[in-house]
Amino acid sequence: MSENLTPMMQQYQRIKREIPSDALLLFRLGDFYELFFDDAKLVSGLLGITLTQRNGTPMCGIPHHASESYIGRLLKAGRKVAICDQLEEAGAAKGIIKRDVTQIVTPGTIFADRYLKADVNNFLAAISAADRRFGLAFLDVTTGDFKLSELESSEALIGELQRLHPAEIVIPAENEEILSRINGHGWTISFYEPWTFEFETAYLTLKDHFKTQSLDGFGCQEMRLAVSAAGGALHYVVNHLRRSLAHVHRLHTYEPGHCMALDRVTHRNLDLTEHEPGVPRAHTLLGALDRTVTSMGARLMREWVTRPLRRAEEIRRRQQVIREFLDEADLLFNGREILKEVKDLERIMARLATGNGNARDLLGLKYSLQKLPAVRDCFGKMRSLLAAAEHAKIGIFDDLAGLLECAIHDEAPLALKEGGLIKDGYCAELDELRAAARSGKEWIAQLQQREIQRTGISSLKIRFTSVFGYFIEVTKSNLSKVPPDYHRKQTIATGERFITPELKEMEAKILGSEERMIKLEYDLFLQIRDRVMKHSAAIQETASAIAVFDALAGLAAIARERSYACPEINEEGAIEIVEGRHPVLEQVMEADPGVAARGGFVPNDVRLGGDHQIMIITGPNMAGKSTYIRQVALLVLMAQIGSWIPARKAAIGLVDRIFTRVGANDDLARGQSTFMVEMNETANILNNATQDSLIILDEIGRGTSTYDGISIAWAVVEHLHDRIKAKTLFATHYHELTQMARRLPRIRNCNVAVREWNDQIIFLRKIVDGSTDRSYGIQVGRLAGLPREVIDRAKEILNKLESSDTEADWNDGAKEGPADRRIHKRKIKPDLQMTLFGKPQEVKG
Ligand code: ADP
Ligand code: MG
Repeated sequence: MSENLTPMMQQYQRIKREIPSDALLLFRLGDFYELFFDDAKLVSGLLGITLTQRNGTPMCGIPHHASESYIGRLLKAGRKVAICDQLEEAGAAKGIIKRDVTQIVTPGTIFADRYLKADVNNFLAAISAADRRFGLAFLDVTTGDFKLSELESSEALIGELQRLHPAEIVIPAENEEILSRINGHGWTISFYEPWTFEFETAYLTLKDHFKTQSLDGFGCQEMRLAVSAAGGALHYVVNHLRRSLAHVHRLHTYEPGHCMALDRVTHRNLDLTEHEPGVPRAHTLLGALDRTVTSMGARLMREWVTRPLRRAEEIRRRQQVIREFLDEADLLFNGREILKEVKDLERIMARLATGNGNARDLLGLKYSLQKLPAVRDCFGKMRSLLAAAEHAKIGIFDDLAGLLECAIHDEAPLALKEGGLIKDGYCAELDELRAAARSGKEWIAQLQQREIQRTGISSLKIRFTSVFGYFIEVTKSNLSKVPPDYHRKQTIATGERFITPELKEMEAKILGSEERMIKLEYDLFLQIRDRVMKHSAAIQETASAIAVFDALAGLAAIARERSYACPEINEEGAIEIVEGRHPVLEQVMEADPGVAARGGFVPNDVRLGGDHQIMIITGPNMAGKSTYIRQVALLVLMAQIGSWIPARKAAIGLVDRIFTRVGANDDLARGQSTFMVEMNETANILNNATQDSLIILDEIGRGTSTYDGISIAWAVVEHLHDRIKAKTLFATHYHELTQMARRLPRIRNCNVAVREWNDQIIFLRKIVDGSTDRSYGIQVGRLAGLPREVIDRAKEILNKLESSDTEADWNDGAKEGPADRRIHKRKIKPDLQMTLFGKPQEVKG
């Protein structure tokens, strides 16, 4: 077939064969990237661009200057894009221009700023597996973050992936074991050569990249699976990005067990971050807590919120830094003012390393480096352990800052090949060329004066266009005065353009020196960039310390702004919070003047642990049950981040996990009914919780009939009490469940107080001891605007039902002992049934 193809199409075919079969090939032809054959058909459909034909070959093209946005759209549509560029100037080569793939863009290797969020990492994750264990590595090429770990179960793996939100997951091709575990979560999954994940190969890939003797220095020597994943990840990235990854300096090995595990459901129920589109940032814990002023700090804060700590020491170390900031208001204020000046060093270094950087990046780097002495001074005063350790990581880069100051032009353009990058006085050769160009231009200005005098044409002008170069322009009315040594070059509407040999000679000189200038400036830029890259590891280290100071100063700022208290951390498990507030709702309510006018957020206490293992919280709809139990979970979580918390005073016993189960949570996207989702979530909790966990149950058993529902809820609470012993908050509208407290010693009942007034209900939002036996559903219905007749009729029915029901039924059920804890159905009297439903029915049970 290739005999019939033009040389260019043969080149196309060769390149197409060399890239992964699932990648679209964008083939540079002049000002366009062209796609051919099936790629063209697919892309013209996806992007809505015209499909054309040349010699029977379907093709379509996207303009080079707008390619970034088209490529972004293709990635969004789940495609990979191989970019094939021209490697030499058109016309430079005899025959066909050299072309090759310069990058294969995938969601996990994209660099364009418009597809990245400053405060969110863009992770590429890679997974390996053996014996039901998993190696996980994740790499953000836009920051240089590279971490690896091993996970003991697929559940833990999924949890980590959900937390990380990778842009792309790479797994060994045809690895069913891994694929079956991660499928169905909506992740972008890419397959890659399995041999790159083999331990020996992976080890070599990493060792080569880091130029180390072994990987021992990274603490992953025993972690064969993690190393396999990391090697696969790096191989994939290098092969796709095809650029230097000099900014990826090290591997961070981490132990998932050192952090609190939070599953997707909990992440969502507690609104930790904007987990799905449509959740406003202000309604998330991250939004309420994040007061960072740098992108590096913002990314770290996001990580902290999704990975609370479990070790008391680590938590206390963060607390101490916050306390230091709060004790010294000046330190906090000045520190944050200085940090504001520091640009995103991580992404700047990543762009420079991969060749995506420009002179503005060098300027951003310079401004930031110039601020470092002030940053060091400011935080150098701090005494706490963590502050001192982080302070030691902030480097001094005076020489580098000095170099950038004298080299890079303050108004350097984005483009690298149009000049204007380098300051005067930095390079003698460049200065000479510039002088020559300047004097050339002066010479031209003088020539214009001379020619005006010589010809007597006062409107004569010497002008320049990039197509025609320099020329003399004479208007129509003066054409008769043009001297014979002018050569006509072009006629325009208003006159004619001429050249002279003298002018052309000077033009060659000027343009020649400009061309050389541009090339020289570019070379100088590259040299300076290489000098910057020598400091890359130290700058990244500095960036990581700045992130920590920023995050902690941000936590101090919010603590101060909202009068948070420092929770006392204990490892005995007792949780006691005095006058706790919901960190998000309190801010949201304050921002809403209407709500604020009706009275602010009502603080509440909680006591959990010991014989307060399980709290059953009853109260009418809208009373504040859900808010309260989430508040407790959020406060514990915040405390384990190291943050201070909205409370007057608190002692927090560390928990290993927080589980949540919130009623009426349809996961329709995944095709599961409410009840099935509910039972799945409940099963997950019962199978994984330990006595160190904190469990938040908001209405279980709601998605089925009342009797089923109460029975399941009852059994779940018993299991938690007798077996798991996890601290549990259970909000329910089944007030029958409060009777369990009489039998099970570690259950406490409480309710959200309401007051009745004139048959109206007033919500007091206060948690008080004891159970309620009323739901106030009708009053809530009235608040919601049900018609008067419906309310009255409902009251009538309720009165009849209540007079026929006895609590004793429920107690009897419980008293029958562990072997047969039956719950009796409510016995509804036949005569009542008749009045309610019209005709008598037989009652079973
Ligand atoms: P329930 O779960 O009992 O039906 P919610 O927890 O959903 O009630 O609370 C209903 C509303 O009451 C919330 O949206 C919030 O506006 C308000 N609320 C809840 N707790 C408080 C509180 N402690 N202080 C002020 N308002 C509260
Ligand atoms: Mg509720």
